[in-house]
Amino acid sequence: MEVRKNGVVIECVQGDIARQPDVEAVVNAANAMLMPGGGVAGAIHRAAGPELAEACRPLAPIKPGEAVITPGFRLPNKYVIHCLGPVYGVDKPEEVLLGNCYRNALRLAEEHHVQSIAFPAISTGIFGYPIKEAVQVVIPLVLSETANLKTLKRIRFVLFGARDFAYYVEYLRGQSL
Ligand code: ADP
Repeated sequence: MEVRKNGVVIECVQGDIARQPDVEAVVNAANAMLMPGGGVAGAIHRAAGPELAEACRPLAPIKPGEAVITPGFRLPNKYVIHCLGPVYGVDKPEEVLLGNCYRNALRLAEEHHVQSIAFPAISTGIFGYPIKEAVQVVIPLVLSETANLKTLKRIRFVLFGARDFAYYVEYLRGQSL
């Protein structure tokens, strides 16, 4: 499913963030130390190889809402942008911190002249952010950021589960574009 806003294609797919060969940058739902873990971080580090953890080491730790960029190494993507999402109920205000992740990732992508990027649903796994609340933060923010984008032409949301995918599609359809 895709929509277009300010010349930018926004799309939702169900799948694995580590298997998006046609985008230049993928976003990692990282931990503060930028180390391999479960979920998205596990999949990305496994696919990228041990060089990724090496490249991350000097950039850590990061704070909730922050983003850093590394090469993609053995991933099919040129870059990985690592974001630390808020832990729901702990890092506050969580909607601001979650929004900062997406805003900072888009800014870093633009600074590196990236044309296409794929995001997972940051914070909605181990960090406990309810997907229905996350989507209400993420989609309006990304839609409004399209007005400021110069190099990015495609933004993809990659949802792992069928239900998460359905929420994203439903929400995106409901936005007046
Ligand atoms: P966080 O710690 O930020 O909550 P997680 O990696 O635990 O990050 O989960 C974030 C979201 O990504 C969850 O909705 C989870 O279902 C989903 N997810 C887990 N593995 C993958 C994957 N390989 N590709 C895309 N999404 C994934």
